[in-house]
Amino acid sequence: MNESDLHPATRVAQAMGRIDQATRAVIAPIHVSTTFIRDPDNQYSSGFVYGRPDNATVREAEAVLAMLEAAPAGALLFGSGMAAAIAAFAVLNAGDHVLAPRIMYWALRHWMMTELPRRGIAVDFVAMDDPAAVATAVLPGRTRLIWVETPGNPLWTITDIAAIAGIAHAAGARLAVDATVASPYHLQPLALGADFVMHAATKILNGHSDVVAGVVAGARDDADWQRIVTARRLGGAILGPFEAFLLMRGMRTLFLRAAAQAANAAALAARLAAHDHVAHVLYPGLPDHPSHAIAAAQMRNGFGSMLSIRVRGGAAHAIATAAAVRVWHRATSLGGVESLIEHRASIEGEGTPCPDDLLRLSVGIEHVEDLYADLDRALRAASG
Ligand SMILES: *Cc1c(COP(=O)(O)O)cnc(C)c1O
Repeated sequence: MNESDLHPATRVAQAMGRIDQATRAVIAPIHVSTTFIRDPDNQYSSGFVYGRPDNATVREAEAVLAMLEAAPAGALLFGSGMAAAIAAFAVLNAGDHVLAPRIMYWALRHWMMTELPRRGIAVDFVAMDDPAAVATAVLPGRTRLIWVETPGNPLWTITDIAAIAGIAHAAGARLAVDATVASPYHLQPLALGADFVMHAATKILNGHSDVVAGVVAGARDDADWQRIVTARRLGGAILGPFEAFLLMRGMRTLFLRAAAQAANAAALAARLAAHDHVAHVLYPGLPDHPSHAIAAAQMRNGFGSMLSIRVRGGAAHAIATAAAVRVWHRATSLGGVESLIEHRASIEGEGTPCPDDLLRLSVGIEHVEDLYADLDRALRAASG
């Protein structure tokens, strides 16, 4: 049986079967050297020259990520999700136009609004879950990149990747998808027509809230991909070897963690939807989610571990609920094995499209009854 015929769950658990040849170690060593011996004939036959462009431990994790995304061009690891996302913008030139979603990761939206205009690049924010609106907003010949985030923070808006890919490609634009929330366990954007997929590997890919990392994977090794490769090689935003090792360790259990977290999230979404103190639950797995059918068609193995609730009684009740939890951790970020709760408008600040009665829940692997009971008690306490 060829290694490549195995299920991704098998391949990721075994880090693609890599065995250290020198020691026969099951776990690859961490390569820390920043420099490498040049051969007497003046070549670098190992392929390694210096630590900024490349690192063997980083390569191991990148090979696993390229496998998980089925990415022909491969995957590149960066020092954060933001560094990975920003690297994808290296495909643009002054005068280009970008379309991005209104509902998306706030720090990247902020970067696009402030930095793209300084580079002579125009950006418009559209309702990315409405392909007709995207088709109207696209500027054929000028729009060079459409950015999608699905499910999108923090309302879990679902974007039809295949539909937007069609619009992008007809206009001569590339499609990049931030698939952090879904992870490759639930979604493979390249298979649906995206040109690039990006993740904050900080989140569910690593899964243990102890690494900051980002990845971009590409559908084709072409001139655009080479601009991203060059941006990392020269820009120096490569992930460190210790972080790459930790990420690899985390990814071995991705399929187990993501399955358990999605099952917990689905159970909590259904129960919270019937809760007296909850006005609305936002979760793509609920049949009343406006894009449930698209989510069901383009995602697999469920709908992920992120949901939001809108608390009856407004912002004060939402903040009081977050203040009253004991099992959930009151913290930002997502995707770890421990459940987190956050009053999202507080961290996004002024101008956020996030309603102020919204609590964002990142569901972990704890026992679902403990998670529900804690939220139920906090919701009741908050509303007096
Ligand atoms: C966290 C996050 C990012 C940014 O990743 P960092 O590792 O924090 O830089 C980008 N997109 C989404 C959807 C995220 O959740």
